Amino acid sequence: MSSSLPVRRFDAIVVGAGGSGMRAALELARANLKVAVLTKVFPTRSHTVAAQGGIAAPLANSTEDNWHWHMYDTVKGSDYLGDQDAIEYMCRRANEVVIELEHMGMPFDRLENGKIYQRPFGGHTQDYGSAKMAMRACAVADRTGHAMLHTLYQQNVRANTQFFVEWMALDLIRDPQDGAVIGVTALEMETGEVALFQGKATLFATGGAGRIYAASTNAFVNTGDGLGMAARAGIPLQDMEFYQFHPTGVYGAGVLITEGVRGEGGYLLNKDGERFMERYAPNAKDLASRDVVSRAMTTEIKEGRGCGPEADHVMLKLDHLGPEVINQRLPGIREIAIKFANADPIREPIPVVPTVHYQMGGIPANYMGQVVVPEAASQEAIVQAFYAAGECSCVSVHGANRLGTNSLLDLLVFGKSSGEQMIKDIRALPRPQRNLPKGAGDASRARLARLDSASAGERVAEVGADLRKAMQAHCGVFRFPDELVKGVEKIKEIAARAQRTHIQDKSKVFNTARIEALELDNLVESAMSTVVSAQARKESRGAQARADFPERDDANWLKHTLWYKEGNRLAYKPVHLKPLTVETFEPKVRTY
Ligand SMILES: Cc1cc2nc3c(=O)[nH]c(=O)nc-3n(C[C@H](O)[C@H](O)[C@H](O)COP(=O)(O)OP(=O)(O)OC[C@H]3O[C@@H](n4cnc5c(N)ncnc54)[C@H](O)[C@@H]3O)c2cc1C
Repeated sequence: MSSSLPVRRFDAIVVGAGGSGMRAALELARANLKVAVLTKVFPTRSHTVAAQGGIAAPLANSTEDNWHWHMYDTVKGSDYLGDQDAIEYMCRRANEVVIELEHMGMPFDRLENGKIYQRPFGGHTQDYGSAKMAMRACAVADRTGHAMLHTLYQQNVRANTQFFVEWMALDLIRDPQDGAVIGVTALEMETGEVALFQGKATLFATGGAGRIYAASTNAFVNTGDGLGMAARAGIPLQDMEFYQFHPTGVYGAGVLITEGVRGEGGYLLNKDGERFMERYAPNAKDLASRDVVSRAMTTEIKEGRGCGPEADHVMLKLDHLGPEVINQRLPGIREIAIKFANADPIREPIPVVPTVHYQMGGIPANYMGQVVVPEAASQEAIVQAFYAAGECSCVSVHGANRLGTNSLLDLLVFGKSSGEQMIKDIRALPRPQRNLPKGAGDASRARLARLDSASAGERVAEVGADLRKAMQAHCGVFRFPDELVKGVEKIKEIAARAQRTHIQDKSKVFNTARIEALELDNLVESAMSTVVSAQARKESRGAQARADFPERDDANWLKHTLWYKEGNRLAYKPVHLKPLTVETFEPKVRTY
């Protein structure tokens, strides 16, 4: 295939316009670099817009607080799988990036004295895990992500970032000589045109893959495209077994009810009207970390104490907060409950179930956003000119379980630090742009050609639905050995079926069938890495709860998983237990 794709050249290519992509782009554009941001949806429709509860920073506006306590909570929340150097880095830069956001115009809620309002959130405590909660989550009512994404978008427009809206990146292009990343191929949805975007530095900020599950709080665009592209280009995916189930998705609909509801004083009830979290987490109760609450809810339901005719959900009570608090602090939640659960929380509780929410794993990166792969000689080698930030990356600050409000923080901290690193690396380059390797873009064109020529085959929607069902059934809140084995087999079958799909509509203009077919490839890589990694990890840690290995096993499993697409194989690498400047937080039994 001749390589005649049109080429567009920039200093930096950013794939994804969520919080992390836009924070990085802002840093780059302000340094007068030519930045292209590619995004499948209009920037302010990225999933970050849906974030409700808040962004963590130990500002100490309402309770005593400092970055050491925040760091301890994050390490403990990660079930000790988080890299402690990266966690220290994030917690130490939290106040800086949040105040910066305030100065960009973020309309934070305020205290009487004019300082930023802060609410408690699960797992965030004072004094290294004492029973006193820290008020650490800065919020804009229950629409924090919405305010943040709009603030960042406006700043980018001002800084002349160039947006390519409704352009879908298809594949990563690497130099076969040294593996350096040169850019991506991308498809313009409006015209069907495919182009090659070349950059001196390329950042993936493509968000999570929550859509590999049937019940998910994630947007439809969260199909793990960055993961698929990286995996197909030979880069391993790290810790993919760890998916966070958020305790409170609306029963039947999956829409998220923020943990901020429990932060404001709401709590969970079983069918007997019992506040059951008091039994599972006597100190933190309903504000224990998410994996703990999700397992407690699932256990209540399994043991027959669920609510409703099917006894398959529990209730979230908040009417006791009063209409004033609900209308002022949680107006979006009231709207969601009325629309999706037909329950007005001012008068009645909301039916909820644990729902897939966040992917802790992703493309392995260090805290400067550089993508790293294991190498025999040095432990980790940097993939030249390739960076990852936000939910598609695994830095790893969230380890086996993320604390609420730490993701919006990670977007800002690592969006900024990867931008800073990219500027440094671009300025240090000996020559302007590399020559394009022969055959650049062929892989994408072959994928498109297959879809264009296939005249028969399976429907994309059916294969996708089977994938989501399989993941839900075989790789859920509790993981059973035989189910996992079956899950691996099913996803393998589904991966083969995905190679035989067929789309009826072959038109070029806004062909959403073609987009969904291309997304399916990425869902397959994401699901495969998840179920294979989960099946292999023979312990329970954070979000991975194995029925056959109920305990954490630090002797054998205090290590990161790496999944390679080639050969569907696994490797492992050590956790960074040493922080940058402070003492290691040694692994302890995790109770709340
Ligand atoms: C409902 C909900 C509520 C949440 N609430 C909170 C909260 O209160 N606090 C908190 O800390 N965290 C919260 N989270 C988690 C947090 O919001 C996300 O982890 C975070 O917003 C992800 O941001 P991101 O920048 O990584 O990517 P996203 O915001 O998901 O954006 C991904 C971007 O990549 C683009 N993209 C993807 N694939 C391609 C492709 N192939 N080509 C081109 N572009 C592509 C998309 O168009 C989009 O612009 C919440 C998550 C959800 C789902």
